[in-house]
Amino acid sequence: MDRLSTAGGAVTGVNEEEVSLSLRGARVNIRFTEQARYGTALLCATGSREFLARLAGVAQELGYRLEPGGLVDSASGRLQTFGSEEEVFRFLGMATIPPELRENRGEVELALSHALPDLVELSDLRGDLHVHTTWSDGRQSLEDVAAAGDARGYEYIAITDHSSRVNLDALARQQAGIERVNRRHTCQLLAGIEVDIRSDGSLGYPNRVLADLDLVIASVHSGLGQDPDLLTRRVLTAMENEHVDIIGHPTGRLLGRRPPYAIDLARVIDYAAVTGTALEINASPRRLDLEGIYILQAKNKGVKLAAGTDAHQVGEFSNICHGITLARRGWCATADLVNTLSLPELLEWRS
Ligand SMILES: [Zn+2]
Ligand SMILES: [Zn+2]
Repeated sequence: MDRLSTAGGAVTGVNEEEVSLSLRGARVNIRFTEQARYGTALLCATGSREFLARLAGVAQELGYRLEPGGLVDSASGRLQTFGSEEEVFRFLGMATIPPELRENRGEVELALSHALPDLVELSDLRGDLHVHTTWSDGRQSLEDVAAAGDARGYEYIAITDHSSRVNLDALARQQAGIERVNRRHTCQLLAGIEVDIRSDGSLGYPNRVLADLDLVIASVHSGLGQDPDLLTRRVLTAMENEHVDIIGHPTGRLLGRRPPYAIDLARVIDYAAVTGTALEINASPRRLDLEGIYILQAKNKGVKLAAGTDAHQVGEFSNICHGITLARRGWCATADLVNTLSLPELLEWRS
């Protein structure tokens, strides 16, 4: 206990198997188990309630009761222990279900028939599609971004500064800068924009300017308090614009600061399927927008997703891992994300 206390947390409760800590205002529970029981202990401690209930049902059909300590034979009371989650799934005659899918949304049935989807992985990504620089409110130069892209082994990064902060004269100079930087780097910068969807549904740049860009994200940054129908129609109108490729952070939520705005996501998803517009998975830990359940709904309607960090400084490129986690929670395979495409394929997709 001394060691736990000096780690900066106050121990508030202890029993045989669990310690509760208060760590910088957050409550942390640490559970202890034997190595031999780690499989069921980890499953029971981390799976959603719905998933665990369904898994317990599978165990019950085989004559076992699922407990953190193992599987108890209902007839004899004998305990079967498992050192890993894989061993539990194998014992139950199932494929191992990735943690991101454990919500009882059909994954248990697919695991029983060994037909789980092949989920997208971080290494499948070829680039980042949402990045800000010193040309708007970012703290990184074009050169910094290209160097970060090279370091990550990316093929491309889309420069998508705010249309409200880049006038057309500056945009032309930025594009010239992008061409210069691209000559020195393997990772190619795309001349893109995060264009405002204004309160009346119009876009922050004229069409002739959008037509010349490599990638256009359209985002709502104002009029967040509008009524749901008006807000939704603004986004639908933006999707009707043939130059708009991606709807940025579709619900506008800022975690801990601002709830999602009152947008009708079902309508947005349906219309994205009609117009071929991708919806963003914003990987910034401040947003994490869309959530997995909406990603799944979009994917099921054939809507493409686009992962972007919304990085404003170089250290934020690694946040893309959160976007991949969300994509996996939404059952995405490689083909569901546009930034798993090669650069020529991406440019072909957006044309
Ligand atoms: Zn934005
Ligand atoms: Zn942004």
